[in-house]
Amino acid sequence: MIGTTYKCEICGTESAAPVRWFVIHCSDARLAIYKWDQVQADKPHALHFCGEGHAQVYISRWFESFCGSPVMLGGK
Ligand SMILES: [Zn+2]
Repeated sequence: MIGTTYKCEICGTESAAPVRWFVIHCSDARLAIYKWDQVQADKPHALHFCGEGHAQVYISRWFESFCGSPVMLGGK
C-alpha cells in the first residue's frame, strides 16, 4: 500500500520501510513476536516497534502487568 507508515509504540518514530522492525500481537494471556512481516503488521491489533530495544521495553511492561496481579504480590 503506497503511503502507509508505521509508528513505533515506544518512541513514536515513523517509517514507511520498517524492514528491521518487530511486530507484536498481545493479549492478557499471550504475547507473540514477529520479525517484520507486512501481513502481521497490518493486523488490527498489531503493535509496531522500531527495533529490538523498544520491543523489549514493551515485553518488560507486559511481564510486569502479567505478574503484578494481587495474587502474585501476596495481597496488601
Ligand atoms: Zn522506537
